[in-house]
Amino acid sequence: MIATPATVSAIGLGRQMISPMCRRLARFGAVAIFALVCGLAQTHAQTQATPASGFDPGLVEDIVVGSRVLADFGVVDGFGHVSARNPTNPNHFLMSRSLAPALVTADDIMEFDLDGNAVDAKGRPLFLERFIHSEIYKARPDVMAVVHTHSLGVIPFTVSQVPLRPMYHNAAFLAAGAPVWDIRKGFGETDMLVRDAARGKSLAEMLGDKSVVLMRGHGDVTVGPSVRIAVFRAYYTDIDAKLQSQAIALGGDINYLTAEEGAKADTVNLAVLDRIWNLWKMRVVPTPGK
Ligand code: MN
Repeated sequence: MIATPATVSAIGLGRQMISPMCRRLARFGAVAIFALVCGLAQTHAQTQATPASGFDPGLVEDIVVGSRVLADFGVVDGFGHVSARNPTNPNHFLMSRSLAPALVTADDIMEFDLDGNAVDAKGRPLFLERFIHSEIYKARPDVMAVVHTHSLGVIPFTVSQVPLRPMYHNAAFLAAGAPVWDIRKGFGETDMLVRDAARGKSLAEMLGDKSVVLMRGHGDVTVGPSVRIAVFRAYYTDIDAKLQSQAIALGGDINYLTAEEGAKADTVNLAVLDRIWNLWKMRVVPTPGK
């Protein structure tokens, strides 16, 4: 794997016959061949990471990277999920089997219809709260990705009367509003989970045309026109909530971004998003397909 027999033989020959300088050159050559072989092996591994399902490998990678990045930042823990609408079939979406986000690989990505049914479950366990995703895709044709988290930052804003608002430009999308959905209002005393289509539909209605909806005593959902944008919004919703709690603790009036500032800053954020995505991607190493 590291070097061919011919290469090994050449290095052995060099050690016997040539000067120390040539010996160093021979070693350099071995290192170069090693690097070349490793490079080829890596390329091969990346090719092998393409899921057998035939889903867009770039989209699958974004779901895997997004899941792991949010886990790395602590925005999700053992729970939470990232999904993407299937661009070749808008009535389907892609999401992992029931699994902690930090453990998601390309091979764990499955396809669902907009009623939350797995297209080919193969006995794999499904997320109970997949109806968050299915009902939002049904209600919002513009949404191409959905993220659900139990962000610790936002929980206080789901149970208090203080609205979550944009503290700084990275969270500019919050200027459009972040409504709070209370499952008790429509469904009484529940286990708090969006475990059926009716609850998902109600949540999607509260989301409306916004990018974020908070869930009372539970967490939040962010949406966007791509996985990267939905993940970006999930991360900055969590950060903004923590900063807002700090600002409130300081006391006095808070000078939030206005709606117009938010709209302008959001346009810039979306244009430069790949820069931070590439940085985040370096934090996690997706496991190649099994
Ligand atoms: Mn949940």
